[in-house]
Amino acid sequence: MRYHNITKDDMLNGDGLRVVLWVAGCEHCCEGCQNPVTWDPNGGLAFDENAKNEIFEQLDKSYISGITFSGGDPLHCANRSGIKQLAMEIKEKYPNKTIWLYTGDVWEDVIHYSLIKYIDVLVDGEFQQDKKDTTLMWKGSQNQRVIDVQATLAADDPSIPVLHCGNYDDIPMGRETTGAVGEKNIIPFNASGSCSIRKA
Ligand code: SF4
Repeated sequence: MRYHNITKDDMLNGDGLRVVLWVAGCEHCCEGCQNPVTWDPNGGLAFDENAKNEIFEQLDKSYISGITFSGGDPLHCANRSGIKQLAMEIKEKYPNKTIWLYTGDVWEDVIHYSLIKYIDVLVDGEFQQDKKDTTLMWKGSQNQRVIDVQATLAADDPSIPVLHCGNYDDIPMGRETTGAVGEKNIIPFNASGSCSIRKA
């Protein structure tokens, strides 16, 4: 597995403050993807022990809610094994931290992956330019879903995703707020491509 970046104290890619691993490799080629440089699975740097320790140093902090796997696509065939191993280690070492994962694949196509059981929230689907909506929470286009993986797997029919959050259409300004409704209280959200591409 290769990666482009590890970002810290991130508020844009999941609940709370998070560490984000931006992996290399994606075959979805979404029109409007904000960072095509991440598509090449041979790009970036090799994910090594130093990179893992950098992540663990962040997860050691009590105020860090967890990790988000993004990219690129963490479920690209070049990444699945590495992500599974890392997710397993994180769940064992930090059982109270959450793991989010952004993928261009849809839930129905990834439900059988063995790594899915380690994920708490999965944001699925390609970024679709014609469905782009900057008011959405944690996603960039209307087709994408923010899925509560553990609730979905525990349901009678796991093929039907249980949403971690919907489209927040009923909330003023289209977003959840931290307090009184107003621009200053808006929780940051992901308004980029499905894999919440990091802006340079
Ligand atoms: S938006 Fe995400 S899934 Fe789509 S091409 Fe970019 S990295 Fe891949």
